[in-house]
This record gives sequence, structure tokens and C-alpha cells, in this order.
Amino acid sequence: MSAGNDPAQRVAIGISFGNSYSSIAFTSGEGKAEVIANEDGDRQIPSILSYVEGEELHGGQAKGQLIRNSKNTVAYFRDFLGQEFKNIDPTPCHQSAHPIQNKSSIAFQIRDTEAEDQNTVSVSEITTRHLKRLRNSASDYLGKTVNAAVVTVPTNFSNTQKSALNKAAKDAGIEVLQFINEPVAAVLAYDARPQAQLADKIVVVADLGGTRSDIAVIASRGGIYTILATVHDYEVSGIQLDQVLMDYFAKEFIKKHKSGGDPRENDRSLAKLKLESEAVKKSLSIGTTANFSVESLAGGIDFTATINRTRYELLASKHFAAFTRLVAHAVEKAQLDPLDVTEIILAGGNSNSPKIASTITNAFPGATVVLAPSTSPTAINPSELSVRGAAIQASLIQEFELEDIEQSTHPMVTVTPHLSHAVGVLCISGDETSGVFHPIVDAETPLPVRRTALITTPREGGNVLIKLAEGARHIKVTKPEPKPKKEKEEKDDDDDDDEDSDEDESEEGEELREKTWKVSNVLSEAALRGLKKGSKVEVQINISADLNANCIFREVGGKGGVRGLLSG
Ligand code: ATP
Repeated sequence: MSAGNDPAQRVAIGISFGNSYSSIAFTSGEGKAEVIANEDGDRQIPSILSYVEGEELHGGQAKGQLIRNSKNTVAYFRDFLGQEFKNIDPTPCHQSAHPIQNKSSIAFQIRDTEAEDQNTVSVSEITTRHLKRLRNSASDYLGKTVNAAVVTVPTNFSNTQKSALNKAAKDAGIEVLQFINEPVAAVLAYDARPQAQLADKIVVVADLGGTRSDIAVIASRGGIYTILATVHDYEVSGIQLDQVLMDYFAKEFIKKHKSGGDPRENDRSLAKLKLESEAVKKSLSIGTTANFSVESLAGGIDFTATINRTRYELLASKHFAAFTRLVAHAVEKAQLDPLDVTEIILAGGNSNSPKIASTITNAFPGATVVLAPSTSPTAINPSELSVRGAAIQASLIQEFELEDIEQSTHPMVTVTPHLSHAVGVLCISGDETSGVFHPIVDAETPLPVRRTALITTPREGGNVLIKLAEGARHIKVTKPEPKPKKEKEEKDDDDDDDEDSDEDESEEGEELREKTWKVSNVLSEAALRGLKKGSKVEVQINISADLNANCIFREVGGKGGVRGLLSG
């Protein structure tokens, strides 16, 4: 048994391993996750390795080698793990070591020793070396040898990819206690905070990373998370945002220094342009202007320039809009309406950009909370969400035997039945058609479930009929009243330029969209007699895994109650 396998000897951390950056975190005694900086002081550690005369450089130091030593620098490799060469997109590796086919898997040809010859190093071995460096940084910080971890993976990581990552981690001396989906880790990072309220909610995690964007729509019911829909896109990513700035600064350089040529046409100039453009993008998340400064950018010419945030936002607006469309698409794929979304967690490094948060905020109803640094003072750094969630999960499970962890996360256990419709009550007094549906157990709640709610009865009290029913959420759309024609014509006579005709359109007002409920199926009815004026009724609903429902209705402060049992 390896040390990581034995709960008593386990030292477990959380690891987020992205194509662009990785992070490590641990949970202190008080259950608070802390992100660990490596020996260079970086919390976001580039997932890059570089070899110089046999010496291995890692993280930020390796990233610096993309300028002079790109052929022996390996970057953007996570998604190649467990994949066949014919299925990968090597585009992000254009300015670093190129992936090659190696038997049935993928490798890089690099000079990783002092010898002149290149070696073929598999993506699995590269991953092991990267994870070893992360493990060493965590061990140095903690003062004890790390031997286990919860590791985050994208929701579309296949079992083959997970097995390959599991093996690479084992070879690095890390027992993977559990893989946790990146968006679930992000929700957990928020929900584990002391001030978090574990109310039932629909959460969208929108992750704009370096090489890809990933959206997940998650139903959180009593602290259990169910992924309802996911969307992945490699065409919307940090690389595109960096490219916007690279093009801008390249054009500025050409304008000023025609003799220097286009920095995008020379490998070394391109690498310098890329590194500095990414740094400028990060600065613009905090400041309203940023400086670009590169020594000998092209043709031996030093170049400095300034850009303000507004210009960057304008240049990148189509990418921000594309990301927002992906979020809306994921909600639609989950067969939900934007009005159903309780909160949107912005994750991934690029979500630090204020414009991303404001574009998404504008596309969703006012009641949807957008959790990002620029919209919420208590937001967690989007770059650290995954790793914090992983560290919290590690602290929750590290004392269990590996077999027990495996069993509890086996699909047989985790794929529990879920309610397809909300179940709630209607309270009726007098007119049979009156009564508003109060959802008590939301759709997508895993079974079995028990929920209790207090329902305010009709004000006059007396005899009340309570119906237990299934409800379907309905969006009521109210069109704005059309303006009386005459008034409109008069206005048109006064204003005849284009700008004002736009104003006319906006003056027509937006349609009003509201969430309402329609009762789709009445399950049972109960009569409560002689209720006091304005009294409240406690409703308790229990639904078993085989869909047997049992409910209790009781007047608060009253005597007795009504109990019912329903099957199917
Ligand atoms: P992927 O796997 O998609 O490549 P990742 O999970 O490895 O992504 P993240 O840390 O989520 O990486 O995101 C990295 C991206 O975020 C890079 O494009 C980086 O430039 C960008 N980024 C990091 N910090 C900031 C910041 N403060 N402002 C804007 N962008 C940032």
C-alpha cells in the first residue's frame, strides 16, 4: 500500500490542472482552503516545462523560455492525455514543442538531457514531471510530503483520459483520491464559505480559460449537485483575447517603425508579442490603462505603447459576446429560461475582466446574481475557484479508505433518480379555481427527499382545500402596450433623424417576462377545517426513491393535521 493509499499517512491537497495554468491548495484546520504559491511566488503556475542543457524549468520560468527555447518547451498538453493523435487539435502548441504521434498515444520530441540528441517524451511522462513539480512545491510549503490529491477535470474528460491522468499522478507519487468536475469544484468553493446559504438553486458556472471555455448548468438541491447541461468551445478562449491585443500592438508597431517589419512574422518576435499581450490583458482587469513594453520586439527595435481598457473592450467585444451566447445556449440546452438561473459563477482566469461580467449581467434578469470580482466584493478569484473546491473536497474525504471513496462516487450511487417536475401545493378556499401553486420540492431534486414548508392560507381562514400537485414552470410574457398612433405620428413629425428613430424603438419598452407556475397533475387533496384567520399551514413532503410520496399538512399552532400516502 502506498502512503497516499493509507488514510492515516495521507497528506492530501487539491490540484487544478489546466492546459494553461495549474494551482495547488490545501485546507487548514478551520476548513479554509488556501492556495499555495510555488517557489517563484506564483499561485497560477503555468502548466509548462522547459529544458535548458538538461536542467528542467517549470511554471513561469519555463514560460519565459517560449521566446528563446520554444522547441524544448512543452505547453498546453493536458487535453492530449489519453487521446489519440488523430483526435487532437495541436494549434495551441504552434509556438512550443509540437505534439507527435507515438504508437497509439502522443509525445513531444525535446532535448531534455545534456546530450545533443532529442528524446521522445510521452505526454504521460510530461504530465508526471509537471505534477511532481506541483507536489514538491506543496510539500515544501507544508513541510511534509504530499502523497494524495483531489484533482479537477473538465466535465467532458473521458474515462480513458481520467485513467491516463490517474497513472501519471501515481507515477508522480500522488494517489488521486477523486476526480472532481471543474464546475462542481467552483460551486463547492462558494458553498463551503461560512456565509453561504444552501438554498435550492440553479447555478451556471461559466469558465473562460486559456484554451477553451466550458459552461455547466447545475441544479443544487440540498447541497447535492446535478449537472443539467454542459457546453464546451475551443474557439472562445483566452488565446483569442490575447490575439486581439497582439494584432493591435503589432499594427501600432508597424505604424511607428515600418523598417522593423511585422512582429507576427518572426517566431521570436511573435513569442515576445504574445507574452506581453497576455500581461497587458491581465493588467486591464485591474487598471483602466496598461503599458506594453518589449525590448527588441522586431528588427532590434524596442517598443512601448499604451492601451486603455475601453479600447480593449471594444476590440474584444465580439469574443465577450460569443462567451455570453455560450452561457445562454447552455441554459437553453438545460431546457431552462434565464429567469430560472439563480446565480452565475464566473470562473477561469479571463473572468477577471470586468467587461465579461457586465456583458453577462446585462444578458440575464436583474434577479440573477453574477459572482465575479467586478460585480461582487466578496467574489472568489475566478482563477482559484477550481483548486479551492478540490482542496475542500480533499479535506472532506481524506480520512476514508480509497475503496469507500470509490464506492460512494460510483455511478450506481451517484446517478440517483431525480424528480422531473416540481412538487408543491395549492391552497384553495371558496372558489375552486383560485389558489396559487407554491413549489416545495424543485424539479431535478435527487430522491429520496424530505422538504417542509410553511404556506400562508387565504386570509379569511375557515375551511381550506389543499392540493398536492406537480407544477410546471411557465414564462409569462407581457407585451408592452402599443402607443396610440396619433401620438406616435406627432413625435415622428418632430424628430426626423436616424438617431431619434432608434429612440422610438426603445420607447416602445421591453416585454415583461415573469416566472409563473402551471399545475400539471394533482396528486392528492386534503381538507383542513376551521382554520384561524391568516393562519399558516406546515406542509411536509417525503418522496422515496421509488416515487412514493407521503405528505403531512398541519395548521401551525392548531390541533391535529392530515396525513396522506401516495404511490407512483
Ligand atoms: P484552459 O485549460 O482553458 O487552457 P486553464 O484552466 O489552464 O485554462 P485558467 O487559469 O482558468 O487556465 O485561465 C487562464 C487564462 O486566464 C489565460 O488566458 C490567462 O491569460 C487568463 N487570465 C489569468 N488571469 C487573468 C486576469 N487577471 N485577467 C484577465 N485574464 C486573466
